[in-house]
Amino acid sequence: ANTLRKRKIAVLGSRSVGKSSLVVQFIENHFVESYYPTIESTFSKGVVYRGVEYDCDIIDTAGQDEYSILNSKHAIGIHGYVLVYSVTSRRSFDMIKIVYDKIVDFCGKNDIPCVIVGSKIDLQASSNSRQVPPDEGEELAKTNKAAWVETSAKDNVNVGKVFELCLAEIEKRSPHGQAD
Ligand code: GDP
Repeated sequence: ANTLRKRKIAVLGSRSVGKSSLVVQFIENHFVESYYPTIESTFSKGVVYRGVEYDCDIIDTAGQDEYSILNSKHAIGIHGYVLVYSVTSRRSFDMIKIVYDKIVDFCGKNDIPCVIVGSKIDLQASSNSRQVPPDEGEELAKTNKAAWVETSAKDNVNVGKVFELCLAEIEKRSPHGQAD
């Protein structure tokens, strides 16, 4: 049972919500101001969760709108989803609902391993710019049986937690490594 388990995680959400910053903070432990916004890239990282080592491929997607944000390649072979909105953007939150429904359609099942992430919480403190209150994020997650967390890639708040929660959601639905 010491085999490395491969897990593919797709990070989706509107443009500029901070998907790349979140992934780069997780992989490289630093904050980037701007990181090739329109190029999709895959990052790999070994993650030990509950004593099990996972080989995670994290796909930082680059969709621009509700039509290109999710395509079939993000539905095949993906174990878990990280859906990112910015707490400073109501539009980006509404987009998450659309994307979630699309994933459900694509996958043909309505129990999807998913973490809903409210990003950029450092901004609310400095400029009072929060548009999505925490309880709305939590409520949406509850409705979709997803995990939920708020993050700051800038201040490195809850960044590791996002991917731990995602692994937990995946394992919950396919225990004993059946996701392989
Ligand atoms: P993406 O298009 O979703 O991949 O978004 P990016 O990661 O490129 O980030 C878009 C912009 O938001 C960039 O200017 C980032 O520096 C900024 N940003 C990303 N995460 C945070 C954060 O946690 N806090 C703040 N204040 N800015 C952030």
